[in-house]
Amino acid sequence: MDRTPQRREKLARTFKADRIEAFLVSSAANVSYLSGFSGDDSTLLLTRNRAIVLSDGRYTTQLQQECPGLEHHIRQVGQLMVDAIAEVVDKIGVRRLGFEASAMSVADFEALKEKLPGVEWVGLKDRVEVLRAIKDKDEVAAIREAIGFAERAFAMLRAGLRGTESEKDVADALEGYLRRCGASAASFPPIVAVGRRSALPHARPSPDVRIGEADFVLVDWGASGRPYKSDLTRVLVTGKVTPKFEKVYRTVLAAQERGIAAIRPGVIARDVDAEARSVIEEAGFGRFFDHGLGHGLGMDIHEAPRLRRNSDVRLQPGMVVTVEPGIYLPDWGGIRIEDDVLVTPDGTEVLTHVPKSLDSVRVA
Ligand code: ZN
Ligand code: ZN
Repeated sequence: MDRTPQRREKLARTFKADRIEAFLVSSAANVSYLSGFSGDDSTLLLTRNRAIVLSDGRYTTQLQQECPGLEHHIRQVGQLMVDAIAEVVDKIGVRRLGFEASAMSVADFEALKEKLPGVEWVGLKDRVEVLRAIKDKDEVAAIREAIGFAERAFAMLRAGLRGTESEKDVADALEGYLRRCGASAASFPPIVAVGRRSALPHARPSPDVRIGEADFVLVDWGASGRPYKSDLTRVLVTGKVTPKFEKVYRTVLAAQERGIAAIRPGVIARDVDAEARSVIEEAGFGRFFDHGLGHGLGMDIHEAPRLRRNSDVRLQPGMVVTVEPGIYLPDWGGIRIEDDVLVTPDGTEVLTHVPKSLDSVRVA
C-alpha cells in the first residue's frame, strides 16, 4: 500500500502554521519517505496539491516505477539542481517557500536566493522528521525484518567464533553474514572492541587485536533492509567473569531493563533516560555513562526521537527507539547493551531477541 499521499497530506497541513505556500525537501531520506523514490541526488517540491520530484536522466525509469503518480522534472544534462529548482519554483509562482534548514547547503541557499529574488525563504527544522518518528505498520514490519537479518547474522558469527580472529576479521565476517542473511548492507560499520578497547565508544576494529586477548568483546552492529535499519549491542564473554565484570554487567542490564520498563505512550523522553541513568548512578558509575540512553531508528540509524537528558519529546505509539545504556571505565573496558523497542498503545514491545543474561553471553 502506498502511504506516501497520506504523508504528504500530513506535511501540507503544517504549511499554514509556518505560513508557507510550498516546501522544498532536500534530505534524501525525507524525499524517499514522502515520494517513495529510492534514488539519490533528487529534490522534492511540495505545494498543497502538487508534488514534483526534481531529478536527472539516470532516474527517469526508476521515477516512473517508484512514484508514477507524481510530477517529475528531469534536469537536462548541464542543468544544475539549483537551476532546476529555480525554474520549477518560478513556473509555479511560489512566494513564501519553506526549506530544510539542516539539509540545504549554504552555497545552494545563496545561489537560490540570487536566482529567485522574489521568493521569501523560510528555513524550517524537523518538519518531516517528526512525521518519520511515528512508524506505520509497514515501517515496523521493515524494522522487524532488518532486526531478523541482524540476529541471524550474529548467531552465525557466534557459532563460528574461535577467539583467534582479530577484531577486524570478526567485523568483516559479520558484514558478510548480514548480507547473506538478507540485509542490503550493514546499517553502519560494525564495532568489534576487545577488552579495554571497548571503553572507546567508536573504536575501529583492529587487525592486530585478537578476540581472545581479553575476557570480553563488545559488538555493536545492525542491518539495513528495505531501507529500514536495526541496531544492537551485545558483550560476549570470551574469558573469565571477574567480580568487577559481573558488577558492571549486571548494573548495565538492570539500567537497560529499567529504561525499557519506563517506556510507554505519554512519557517524556528525558524521564526514560533519567530512570535508566539512576540505576547506574546508584551503583556509583554515573560519570562513566556519558551518552544519551537511546535514539530513534528507521530509515536512518539515528533519528527522532532522542532519549536523552534534554529531550522533551513525548513518546507516542509507533515510535521505535534503541535503549542502550553503557558504563565505560578507562583502561578496563566498556559494557553496553542495546535493544530496539517499539512504543505500543499500552507500553512497549522489545523487537530484538538476542539473549543478554550474563549466563547467555558466555562463549563456550
Ligand atoms: Zn548500536
Ligand atoms: Zn544505537
